[in-house]
Amino acid sequence: MARIPLIAGNWKMHKTVGDAIALVQALKREPVPDGVEVAVCPPFTALSDVSRALEGSAIRLGAQDMHWESQGAFTGEISPIMLRDVRCRYVIVGHSERRQHFAETDEAVSRKVRAAFAHELLPIMCVGERLDERDAGRAEAVVTRQTEAATAGLEPQQVGRLVIAYEPVWAIGTGRSASAEEANRVIGVIRGLLSERFGGAAAETRILYGGSVTPDNAAEFFWQPEVDGALVGGASLDTTKFLTIVRAARP
Ligand code: PEP
Repeated sequence: MARIPLIAGNWKMHKTVGDAIALVQALKREPVPDGVEVAVCPPFTALSDVSRALEGSAIRLGAQDMHWESQGAFTGEISPIMLRDVRCRYVIVGHSERRQHFAETDEAVSRKVRAAFAHELLPIMCVGERLDERDAGRAEAVVTRQTEAATAGLEPQQVGRLVIAYEPVWAIGTGRSASAEEANRVIGVIRGLLSERFGGAAAETRILYGGSVTPDNAAEFFWQPEVDGALVGGASLDTTKFLTIVRAARP
């Protein structure tokens, strides 16, 4: 079964509610191309309004993070139930900015992945090496460790629905992307690992590339056989740039 490419926009800590609605209204003017899935991941404060603005549109809603518990005394956190309540389909977990600035561990990422599936959310689980790890020739070892930790205890059918984003940390927000061939190679390593552990389900796992994807370089990534779309940061804040990337993903 062919994997449907996913283009997901990670808006990070950008956009007030009004700005977020204006952006989705602009995105909605263009139909989602056949054979492509599109998602936007606004900040928590805008999820509810963006969800309403997306009614009747094929664009999916995602959150940028969540806690693994359903409810409780966790001041400042957002639960999977709350994300379902505003009709999120996706949730990004283990983004390198959360690992780096908020000390998110492999163990926490694994809990979040399992909690997402338990609440019928689809995790977009991020992996990727830092520059020092890459320079030390450890890129594959790092993504292998992160992927093994995050998928521990999953059923093969969950692995088939999991989305992984390979995002080399040195490429995020820097304007310096990995080469398309390099992304394809590392994603192939991730898929090989999933295949060893979960068998045929690995052929269904969508594995995206993320890190300075732009309208100019997107098509090169999408031509690669292992790359199933993109997690887009900066360029997802601009309607024209994001829609150009979406069009490039058309099979
Ligand atoms: C990201 O935030 O996941 C990302 C890939 O950002 P950018 O596209 O800006 O590098």
